[in-house]
Amino acid sequence: MSLFENTLKQINKAAKTMNLNPEITDYLSHPQRIIQVAFPVRMDNGNMKMFTGFRVQHNNHAGPYKGGIRFHPQVDMDEVKALATWMTIKCSVVGIPLGGGKGGVIVDPKELSINELERLSRAYFRAISEFVGPHIDVPAPDVYTNPQVMAWFADEYTKKYGNRKLGVVTGKPLEYGGSKGRASATAQGGVYVLDEYVKEHGLNPKEMTVAVQGFGNAGSFGAIFLAEMGYKVVAVSDSKGGIYNTDGINVEDTLTCKHEKGSVIECMKECGMHKENYENCKTITNEELLELDVDVLVLSALENQVTEKNADKIKAKIILELANGPVTPEADEILEAKGIDVLPDILVNAGGVTVSYFELVQNEANYYWTEEEVKDRLKKIMVDAYRAVSTHKKKHSCDYREASYTNSLHRLEGMINAKGITSN
Ligand code: NAD
Repeated sequence: MSLFENTLKQINKAAKTMNLNPEITDYLSHPQRIIQVAFPVRMDNGNMKMFTGFRVQHNNHAGPYKGGIRFHPQVDMDEVKALATWMTIKCSVVGIPLGGGKGGVIVDPKELSINELERLSRAYFRAISEFVGPHIDVPAPDVYTNPQVMAWFADEYTKKYGNRKLGVVTGKPLEYGGSKGRASATAQGGVYVLDEYVKEHGLNPKEMTVAVQGFGNAGSFGAIFLAEMGYKVVAVSDSKGGIYNTDGINVEDTLTCKHEKGSVIECMKECGMHKENYENCKTITNEELLELDVDVLVLSALENQVTEKNADKIKAKIILELANGPVTPEADEILEAKGIDVLPDILVNAGGVTVSYFELVQNEANYYWTEEEVKDRLKKIMVDAYRAVSTHKKKHSCDYREASYTNSLHRLEGMINAKGITSN
């Protein structure tokens, strides 16, 4: 089943549970606009190379389309459609006035020089520029894109349209209209959600172990925050593999090492909590990491990591989906039967788009908030969203994913009915 089909399956399941008007289900099952671009980039060796990019604008009933841009060799239209749809649902889970969009370029950025990456980023943004804008569609970072790429996007847009419109993208560097707290927002929001769950279930973080798959933006901040709160982070991984230490991993040292050496598997000596106990560190595969006997499994890499093939082997008690779509619907059913609570992506990683919304608001007002203001506002939104989802869970006797969908669809239904479904 394709990723977009998975997304529709999740929407349909929740729609049935809550008796959603079938017209609204149908309406939300179709992206409003699909854009595919082909653009040339001059490579360092002097040759020109063509690249393909996408932007899917799923729905703007709640506000401008909003969603990240991914640079990855496996990006395809189906994936971008799924991710754009999740953005509509996600913004509504946390109740922010934005719609859903997503973009991507088929490229392995690790194979590009920094100059090639800049030329590619600028060329892609030029190609989609007539379709974006602070009140139209506002991209942001996603896998293998970062604040520097967002700065090139904003600059390219400003050059083309002649005035400073920093709100055209979010996740920019602080020096160029970024918001304090944006870099860590996805992980921070997820940790607020986990914290509420832990409190609701009477658990103690100091007695809980964590494994983190994916050690990029979302995963590394997630691991740092969880370690600060007393959780014992015993394993982390990236695309090359993982490291595991039952005594706990020194997350900060591992991150510094990963930045220097490129992968966590090169960080055996940095892995121990104390310099003397790194002997207990060992490397593990990503598959092994997923199957560790831990309390919390944080999924912060890519989609389709837990499927019907490995769901039965998962031993974690709680899964925190910082990544989008890491658990398939088939796996969800197996995990539910095993009593594993999956805190879903559309709730857990909504902190990223929430602080992106804050960034857009600050850009438009040209008035910038302190980090404390950002964190306080983020916490309130995430905690309120968790509690609303928890209420839906009890009401519909369903899992957290379905409850997040019913919460989101309920809000969207109100907005769509207020304007009229055929008014767009
Ligand atoms: P990133 O590029 O910063 O990090 C991705 C990490 O995953 C890297 O460490 C990479 O090595 C690792 N990885 C890639 N393939 C892997 C594999 N097969 N196994 C294990 N690790 C692998 O990306 P990110 O921004 O942290 O995004 C990660 C996930 O979080 C994505 O699903 C993204 O859509 C989602 N997300 C990110 C944000 C955000 O604000 N950055 C917001 C919402 C959701």
